[in-house]
Amino acid sequence: TTTAIAPIPFDNSYARLPAHFLARVHPTPVAEPWLIKFNRPLAEELGLDADTLERDGAQVFSGNSVPQGAEPLGMAYAGHQFGQFVPLLGDGRAILLGEVIDRNGVRRDIQLKGAGKTPYSRRGDGRAALGPVLREYIVSEAMHALGIPSTRALAAVVTGEPVYRERVLPGAVFTRVAASHIRVGTFQFLAARGDTEGVKTLADYVIDRHYPQIKGQERPYLALLETVGGAQAALIARWLGVGFIHGVMNTDNCAISGETIDFGPCAFLDAYDPAKVFSSIDQGGRYAYASQPAIGQWNLARLAETLLPLLDPEPSEAVNLANDVIAGYGPRFQAHWLAGMKAKIGLIGEEDGDLDLVQGLLRLMKEGQADFTLTFRRLADAAESDTAEHAFAAAFSDPAAVAPWLAEWRARLSREAQAPHDRAQAMRLVNPAYIPRNHRIEQAIRAAEDEGDFSLFEALLSVLAKPYEEQPGFSAYAAPPAPAEEVFRTFC
Ligand code: AMP
Ligand code: MG
Ligand code: MG
Repeated sequence: TTTAIAPIPFDNSYARLPAHFLARVHPTPVAEPWLIKFNRPLAEELGLDADTLERDGAQVFSGNSVPQGAEPLGMAYAGHQFGQFVPLLGDGRAILLGEVIDRNGVRRDIQLKGAGKTPYSRRGDGRAALGPVLREYIVSEAMHALGIPSTRALAAVVTGEPVYRERVLPGAVFTRVAASHIRVGTFQFLAARGDTEGVKTLADYVIDRHYPQIKGQERPYLALLETVGGAQAALIARWLGVGFIHGVMNTDNCAISGETIDFGPCAFLDAYDPAKVFSSIDQGGRYAYASQPAIGQWNLARLAETLLPLLDPEPSEAVNLANDVIAGYGPRFQAHWLAGMKAKIGLIGEEDGDLDLVQGLLRLMKEGQADFTLTFRRLADAAESDTAEHAFAAAFSDPAAVAPWLAEWRARLSREAQAPHDRAQAMRLVNPAYIPRNHRIEQAIRAAEDEGDFSLFEALLSVLAKPYEEQPGFSAYAAPPAPAEEVFRTFC
């Protein structure tokens, strides 16, 4: 049913694209929707009627009433899932309501996830369970607060209906906001059909919507590949800087906009281990923490393949151009990563030994099973007071082993002009005190599932909204899990 209310000033463009790009589909109503959470500041940023949505949110964000001006649709896409190509995936449980132009003039998608079956559902039920909805809400908002490009959470509702997974779970719908939901897999869907005209239409749409600075360049599609690669390199460097493991870096979960998208079995490092994998579905460890940059490059190569016919009329020249961009991704990523890591240890200037200094610390952290977040936060304290070195060293299984590195670090700092207090403050702006720790997320989900208690969910959201600020009274949220609390596996 479409209501007469118009709390969302839609301005839809994806719905105008060729018919085979999408499928028009309506949300399937649910029994008894109840609004868990509405992100009022985000609604205001989007220029929505926040009062009306706060009142009617259960109906609107469950899909029970589709606001005026919406043109609900599922997007078609393909994707490499763990390296295997699937020519048609598409939104199997997500329905794009439409787009709005936000207060900054940026076009944003508003999408319901878990709103019922679509033509792309295959054997799926089109639904989402409460746990994953809460996880996506918490982690996507935390990523945004950390300053990392991410899709956002506008609302979450429970449906009053069960969903059937390994066990019976409460159903929920998540409302996601994204710069767009166009993925590497969207290009692959068209390319796999031999639809070069469609690839060009999509590329032009993406350039218009996300990268208008490219328009009119001599080789706009090459520039598009270069720009998307640059955005992915920057994004993945940021992930590594906070210990984030996406978990399912399939090409259908790789957004062209450079936003983090699709928070399934994602997780954050506690103890530093570059080979760490949490996801229960990643048996080969393809998407391990330290493998993410290389996977970003692999995904870029898949995007490049779809664009080849647009790069140059001469196929071998097109391949050469694409290969140069793909090869350039490595050094680009490395530059983003090193800049981020240098900032984390308080360095501004440039010396030959900086990379070794960073790698030396990471080696000690791995050997000493040091908590990733705590180590860097305590290093900021050590930057302004020698006595804080004890707390820093205590993060390592063998505190004495870090003394030589600390001496090297101090020697390196002595060749920088910055005052210790300023350095410590700058380090605290890039080394969060609070991240969405896996055990905290699990506790919040369990309380919601078992008791209908959303207070832990709310507390976590509030702490994570200011991840770089010390919040007295919430120091427990900064702590690593106790052995009994540790999460070893995550599920989607
Ligand atoms: P994901 O692993 O979340 O990236 O999803 C991979 C594909 O499976 C996408 O095409 C989804 O739309 C689809 N999918 C995931 N869960 C469901 C579900 N419960 N019902 C229908 N399709 C689903
Ligand atoms: Mg996905
Ligand atoms: Mg998912």
